[in-house]
Amino acid sequence: MIGVVSQDTEGAAVHEFFQLFKTPWEFLVLDHDYDLVIATSVEIPNKLSAKAIAIYSSVQIGLDHVLGISAQRRGRAEWLQWGGIRFPVYGDVSIFQPCGQPFIQLKGEPGAVGLHLADSARQIFRIGYDLFQESSFLLSTGQPAENSHIPTLEMHIALLRGCMVNAEIPFVEIAPVPTGYDFMACLTHDVDFVGIRDHKCDHTMWGFVYRGLVRSLLNALAGRIAWSKYLHNVKAVFSLPLVYLGLRDDFWLEFDRYMQMEKSLGSTFFLLPFKNVPGTWESRPAPKRRAAKYDFTEIKEQVLELIRNGCEVGLHGIDAWQNSQTALVEVGRIREVTKHSEVGARMHWLYFAEGSPKALEDAGCAYDSTFGYNDAIGFRAGTTQVFCPVGAYNLLELPLNIQDTAMFYPRRLNLSEAQALESCKQLIQSTVLYGGVLTVNWHTRSLSPERLWGDFYAKLLKEIQTHRVWFGTAGQIVKWFRKRRNCHFDLVEFSENNVHLKLRGPLPDGQPSVVLRIHHPRFTSCTTSPAHMPAYMDIPWRGKHELSIAFCERFAAVVCLPSKARARVCGTPFVSCTWSFFFAKSMPMEYEQRSRMGPSLTNIL
Ligand SMILES: [Zn+2]
Repeated sequence: MIGVVSQDTEGAAVHEFFQLFKTPWEFLVLDHDYDLVIATSVEIPNKLSAKAIAIYSSVQIGLDHVLGISAQRRGRAEWLQWGGIRFPVYGDVSIFQPCGQPFIQLKGEPGAVGLHLADSARQIFRIGYDLFQESSFLLSTGQPAENSHIPTLEMHIALLRGCMVNAEIPFVEIAPVPTGYDFMACLTHDVDFVGIRDHKCDHTMWGFVYRGLVRSLLNALAGRIAWSKYLHNVKAVFSLPLVYLGLRDDFWLEFDRYMQMEKSLGSTFFLLPFKNVPGTWESRPAPKRRAAKYDFTEIKEQVLELIRNGCEVGLHGIDAWQNSQTALVEVGRIREVTKHSEVGARMHWLYFAEGSPKALEDAGCAYDSTFGYNDAIGFRAGTTQVFCPVGAYNLLELPLNIQDTAMFYPRRLNLSEAQALESCKQLIQSTVLYGGVLTVNWHTRSLSPERLWGDFYAKLLKEIQTHRVWFGTAGQIVKWFRKRRNCHFDLVEFSENNVHLKLRGPLPDGQPSVVLRIHHPRFTSCTTSPAHMPAYMDIPWRGKHELSIAFCERFAAVVCLPSKARARVCGTPFVSCTWSFFFAKSMPMEYEQRSRMGPSLTNIL
């Protein structure tokens, strides 16, 4: 059990942090015994019972004098290095006079930001930044685009987990992955257009003609696209009169093609609620081209067909982000057609403000999926997990990670397809490592001329599918995280050979179950794994209130191998390129095969 002594203003941030690192904790009670106390307040009680203390503070605190530590304040926004991991800190940082064992350093220059001091009584980790303020900043403001590829908040969690492993504290957490999977993927489509026929001689049409004839020619000359794509675009431009006359199909109508490509993966389409409404930005009208030219009710049949095919339909909000009354009206338009009370939202052009989560929550939205970048891809909140944004109580945020337009637009990242695929692979690797969800937004007109980004989308799907991935609609993924958030540990008792658990949570609901991840000093740490991913043992939890899990002989040595080696050992065709764990002794091939289908390891036990 972790006890927390935080500053008065950090309460909400502490609660949310432990929804992401889901392990037993409480605010410190003086006569309780703790494995670890996390202290972020300036005053730390003298008489506390803990095997280890992790002190996070960017200022000198009273205990520093007792420990003989002197802190020197640095400016804001430093890069730190912990083992092989480099991560940014956005608030203040202190460096310490070396004392004990330095384990976190400033990147590229001398200066210890983390010290490990141990005596026979207890271990102390003194860390020179403010953990919960960092976490709060990441989940509200988010990281600047230049650091978007770094899952910073997951690294903070990994560092804390590393301290616990280092102090030989056994603990259990509920991992952010469903049983049998490496991570979750959520395919989404913002529906800004449903046909070029709606655009006659307007900004959109002339933009299409220019990009189809001129820019794609330049791209073909520069070798950025194939000549066949250029010819495809030229044909599309010259076919426009026929499309307007109704003699040719409208090539910007792409719902069927997405359903074909994604088959039963289940994607989410965000639709604009009103025609010809650009909305407002900072009390002024938004640019006219922000307005949709389609009317949601005119494509009702296509919308219902999407739902019949296992897809989800959500709100692509125009002004819903501004206040709850507007949000209610916009959400109501979606409900009218879908007849579903649970509606989620993503704002058009990612317009958002501090009060938006609350406004959407008051309008009855189940989730939002706006928190991402227009000009970058990655982890704006620094986490791979769904979280509760500041100001909301029930609404959850499904962060947006990969957007087609962010990668390929000349005024944004302007990546070639090879560069874009490399960047996506990097994000996939991080999601494999930390679990959670990867959310992709591929706009509904991106398969057609003049974008023709369908080949790339197919490659991206294939890349994601080289891993064990649970694909869900946005609503399904959010529901899974809500289930995990609603799990509570009533009791955790470790002994030498087993762990006794009591926990409560939602009953099995047909979705993959959550995973109890058990860390114990007797599990041999892997020497070849990334230093910040210690060995552990996973047990699916299917709703049983009380469990006693014995560490059988076969769990005595838990080792890990690169997945390629694992695939070779297990003889399965499945290959992923991150590190994974398998039980070295007597863990049969059957385990791997079962685990991919969502096994009940408790049955095997
Ligand atoms: Zn949009």
